[in-house]
Amino acid sequence: MPEVIFPLDSRKKFEEQEKIGHNRWHPDIPPVATVKPGDSFRVDCREWFDGAIANDDSADDILNAPLLGVHKLSGPFAVEGAKPGDLLVVDILDVGPIQQEDSGPLAGQGWGYTGIFAKRNGGSFLTDQFPDAYKAVWDFSGQTATSRHVPAVAFTGIIHPGLMGTAPSADLLGKWNKREGDLIATDPHRVPPLALPPEPQDALLGTLSGDEFDRIAGEAARTAPPRENGGNQDIKNLSKGSRIFYPVFVDGANLSVGDLHFSQGDGEITFCGAIEMGGFIDLRVDIIKGGMETYGVSENAIFMPGNVEPQYSEWLAFSGTSVTLDGEQRYLDSHLSYQRACLHAINYLTKFGYSPEQAYLLLGAAPIEGRLSGVVDIPNSCSTVYLPTAIFDFDVRPSASGPFQIDPGIGAPKAAAS
Ligand code: ZN
Repeated sequence: MPEVIFPLDSRKKFEEQEKIGHNRWHPDIPPVATVKPGDSFRVDCREWFDGAIANDDSADDILNAPLLGVHKLSGPFAVEGAKPGDLLVVDILDVGPIQQEDSGPLAGQGWGYTGIFAKRNGGSFLTDQFPDAYKAVWDFSGQTATSRHVPAVAFTGIIHPGLMGTAPSADLLGKWNKREGDLIATDPHRVPPLALPPEPQDALLGTLSGDEFDRIAGEAARTAPPRENGGNQDIKNLSKGSRIFYPVFVDGANLSVGDLHFSQGDGEITFCGAIEMGGFIDLRVDIIKGGMETYGVSENAIFMPGNVEPQYSEWLAFSGTSVTLDGEQRYLDSHLSYQRACLHAINYLTKFGYSPEQAYLLLGAAPIEGRLSGVVDIPNSCSTVYLPTAIFDFDVRPSASGPFQIDPGIGAPKAAAS
């Protein structure tokens, strides 16, 4: 096992650990450890809410999820010799959940959860159709996930970090705050908001305190969106065996990682759509001097996806076009067409006895494939969502004798009315 350079004790909160991570992006958050090019090392990661979500049959914790405190990130890790303009090469050697025997009251691993976030607390991809908070708890058995809240399915997780990235320079951070602030200003009271400005409340900046903390907390970027530094890309195929090339913007690169997922569908559509978990990740780093210019990699990270995936060979695919549910034609709107493809799949699954929320949670968590199938055939873009048929315990394909009716079980818990 590689040396653990960022250990987490499952019995303690993230803020009380031996090494303290962070939940904002800023160039002046000090590194917690320094590694050399060629080094392999292990990092423990807390799930993104630091244990606020329980393994129970209520979604009240999703409704009231403490979004100002996310994401709990391990790091930053400085890489000796890395300079702005370099590419940081990161290999994911291994990634997995915390072992059961290590679990404490906060980690609770051996399981994870998916949430549909309420419209008033984050929202989701289909928030107009699903404005309320719901939850599904998933149990892990080896590589397989099952849920008492979404019966009659079992699938192999493609374990990956939802979030990994390098620290921004002061200049780049200024650009983020300007452009996102300009967007917020176009509709500052929108629910859910258009973007998230810097927020000192619940900011965690490693060991910083006092005036330095106050200054940085007022400037530091939230971790929700992916940006030029990688960040919260939520790419399900960034799994074991992946190699990622991150732009370096500060001396040492200052790499951070967190938000591990046991599994996720393309788009992570329920917002907290992956199966969220705490765990470990083994990384190896290297540097390509001047690589940003040499390879033209400055807009975002590039990567080679992982080489470990489930062997699903048969799919049932649903398409959607850029026409609203009210019948209004939109011009090549691929966001809308992917929404329609997902709604199409959800409606189909309800014919087998799933509630719409169970189907939505399943699309967020299972390894579904989402594609922009056509983006040029005016006025309709065509998006598709592919469901692996083998994840269902029954025959999910259309047939003359179907549809089979599942026992919906206890259902997906909904938050009590707020
Ligand atoms: Zn996540």
